[in-house]
Amino acid sequence: MSRKPVPLKIAIKIASLRIALLSKLAFTSLRDGDEDLAKRYIRLIRRISQRVNISIPKELLFCKKCNIPLITGNNCRVRLNTNRIKITCLSCSSIKRFSYSER
Ligand SMILES: [Zn+2]
Repeated sequence: MSRKPVPLKIAIKIASLRIALLSKLAFTSLRDGDEDLAKRYIRLIRRISQRVNISIPKELLFCKKCNIPLITGNNCRVRLNTNRIKITCLSCSSIKRFSYSER
């Protein structure tokens, strides 16, 4: 028995809805203090986006190494260098950089 594949247009629609919902859940669970649950939600978001090949929205900041959602002033440090933004994850101290022009 094989599953009938879902048309790509519908799959993308479902995926983007799920990503929006999961990112909301990730941030609320992190605020409530459940780090593991928040990490799990981010892992699911990354898996969904890989599966249907869509990009994760730029508003959703997370650490690529430990999958934790990043909240400025709470669990990440933001520093500005010459035309670069540097975001440091405070739980695993990995650094994410981007240029001003990119955002
Ligand atoms: Zn991290």
